[in-house]
Amino acid sequence: MAEILVLVEHIDGEVKKVTLELLTLARSLGSASAVWAGPGYSESARARLAEYGADKIYVAGSEEIVDYVVAPKAELLAQLVASASPAAVLVAATAEGKEVAGRLAIKTDSGVITDAVGLGDGFVAEQSIFGGGVNVRARAVKGTPIVAVRPNSTAPEASAGAGAEEQVTVALSDAAKGARVVERVKQEKGARPELTEAAIVVSGGRGVGSAENFAVIEKLADALGAAVGASRAATDAGWYPHQFQVGQTGKTVSPQLYIAAGISGAIQHRAGMQTAKTIIAINKDSEAPIFELADFGVVGDLHQIVPQLTEEVEKR
Ligand code: FAD
Repeated sequence: MAEILVLVEHIDGEVKKVTLELLTLARSLGSASAVWAGPGYSESARARLAEYGADKIYVAGSEEIVDYVVAPKAELLAQLVASASPAAVLVAATAEGKEVAGRLAIKTDSGVITDAVGLGDGFVAEQSIFGGGVNVRARAVKGTPIVAVRPNSTAPEASAGAGAEEQVTVALSDAAKGARVVERVKQEKGARPELTEAAIVVSGGRGVGSAENFAVIEKLADALGAAVGASRAATDAGWYPHQFQVGQTGKTVSPQLYIAAGISGAIQHRAGMQTAKTIIAINKDSEAPIFELADFGVVGDLHQIVPQLTEEVEKR
């Protein structure tokens, strides 16, 4: 069966959900091989990767891989592409994943597809392009297809793989050592799921009205076990931190459910959320462009609707 490499995203030794999604996707197209880059690998990580179908796990545990910015991961994957000749390489379409994909494509003279929201036979990807304005089906026709897949595009399903471990040593080139990490600042891990990985996102826009009013959005998010997002109008106004901005110049999210409250639906906001499976818009203006995109729309004042919705959710 064709081998498909999946670059593992991990934090503090824990495998991120998006990797389980990519393993599930890889398994549907061939034999999944996980690639662990950097320290933190453990028996529990091995078990987790095998549980979601990794037949093989390449482990390059050297500290040096994370001492330098991004490039070592691309070199590691390029080395594995040369030695294992996989049928494809999958990475998460995160900021880092997309950079790895681009660098790997150059190194291996291969075609790269980013922001895929699906992948089928022949590695034909469903891809969201032009800031999310157009969906296309695309296939890399050169070298080893490299596909960056958006988080939440596939539901992760456990199905045991062999989980055979293979240690890998990567000899980094001078070029890979061009930018060194000088400091790591840990972001506080809140109780809410990470925005780009969350299955449900509740976002607020200018219609929320103030920083204090964002409590209304947070309450609904907490009732649903969701992440909180915001439009740029809200982050620029200082009502919510920039790291939660969704859109062209913010984060791209692709959750099962996206609730947009007090957001007009500007093209730059849509670019970051329109591949969500189900979109609910709450807006007092029935002509707001967000309703063109929404699966369900509620016309009305979010300050009345969102608390009522929260109350109903909390009852269940
Ligand atoms: P508005 O467009 O002002 O809409 C507010 C909405 O709230 C209105 O539809 C109104 O009817 C509704 N409303 C008001 N009060 C209530 C109420 N009480 N109850 C219910 N509804 C109410 N934007 C992003 O979001 N993300 C980006 O990454 C991004 N990148 C950009 C990059 C560039 C280069 C540029 C030029 C712009 C970018 N923008 C981005 C900005 C974008 O163009 C919009 O200005 C922004 O998305 C508007 O945010 P908003 O929908 O919250 O505000």
